[in-house]
This record gives sequence, C-alpha cells and structure tokens, in this order.
Amino acid sequence: MTDVPPRPLLVLDVDETLWHGVPDAQATGGVRFLLRPHLAEFLTLVGERYDLAVWTAASDDWMHAGLAAVRQVTGVDLASRAVFLWDRTRCTWRRGEDGEYAFRKPARKFRAPWLRARYPRQRVLAVDDVASNYACGYGHLVKVTSWTGDPTDDELRALARYLVSIADEPDLGRLEKRGWRARLTRGEAEPSGSAG
Ligand SMILES: [Mg+2]
Repeated sequence: MTDVPPRPLLVLDVDETLWHGVPDAQATGGVRFLLRPHLAEFLTLVGERYDLAVWTAASDDWMHAGLAAVRQVTGVDLASRAVFLWDRTRCTWRRGEDGEYAFRKPARKFRAPWLRARYPRQRVLAVDDVASNYACGYGHLVKVTSWTGDPTDDELRALARYLVSIADEPDLGRLEKRGWRARLTRGEAEPSGSAG
C-alpha cells in the first residue's frame, strides 16, 4: 500500500484502432469517421485508470477531425484531456524488414524529460493495430486487431477489461502482453498473485 505506482499513461493509435475513416463526398472534409463499437465504454472505463494520449501516423488535420467525431458521438473530449496529441511529424520514416518504407513510432520519444518525470517507462503502454509501429519499443505495445467497420467487433470491450485488470502492475513494460485476449478469455488476465 505504501508504494502505489504512478498513474499509467495509455498512448492510443486511432486509425483502425479507434476508428476507420471512409471517403464520403457528403461529409465535412470529404471523410466520414466510423467509430469502433464500444468506443465510449472503452474511453470511460480506461480513462478512470489511465491518463490518455494519442499518437498517429496520420496528419494533424485528420486526427482532429476524427477526435471531433469521437466527441460528438461519445461525449468524450479526448483532444482536451490528452496528455499529448502526436501526429505524423513525431513519427520516423523507415524501411521495414519487407523492404517497404513506413512510418514508425519511436518509443524513445517517451524518454522526453517532461514526459518521463510524470510517466516512467514502466508505466507507459501503447495500443496499436500495427505492431511494427513499435518495432523500437515492443515492451509498450498492446496489439489490437485492425478494425475497418465490422459492427459485431468487441475488441475494445475486451481491451478495456484487460487494461483495467493490469493497471496496478508496477512494471507494465515487462508484463507479457502478447496473447492478452486469449488469456483474458481463459480468465488469466489478472497477473497479480497468479502463478505467472
Ligand atoms: Mg492504426
């Protein structure tokens, strides 16, 4: 009880993680944002246990348009409450193992002094549907499936349960997060006191 770990930070990807943007000539800006099922519940439950931030390889304009849609539908003003809103300009452009160039999210950015003062490395998690985004920081990653509009998807509902269950783990980086959903289904999500 004496050493409660600092409040964790959850860095959210947006495209195909929280929403899916589709071209729509009728919509403002020519894009309509489909929101992943259970998004409001996810942001509410997870927001009680984590500080939230956004990191996208998309543009600043795109991110803010999507966040406006999230606010309109869920009532959650992520743009205002986020610890940071990072766009493509915070990413690096790297050639991957497949020879293709792609944006990456270099986890060294989490070592910025102002950030590390509030959120030590052990208390920073990142949710992303593209694992290679965190090729230089897998320890932070909680990988989710890519979402492109399936109305029966319940990944965010399961993810909220999982993230709440591990929020008090002192070292979130070292915690094995691969296969989180299978373990959640088997009732093994709570790592504290478990055999491992
Ligand atoms: Mg994505």
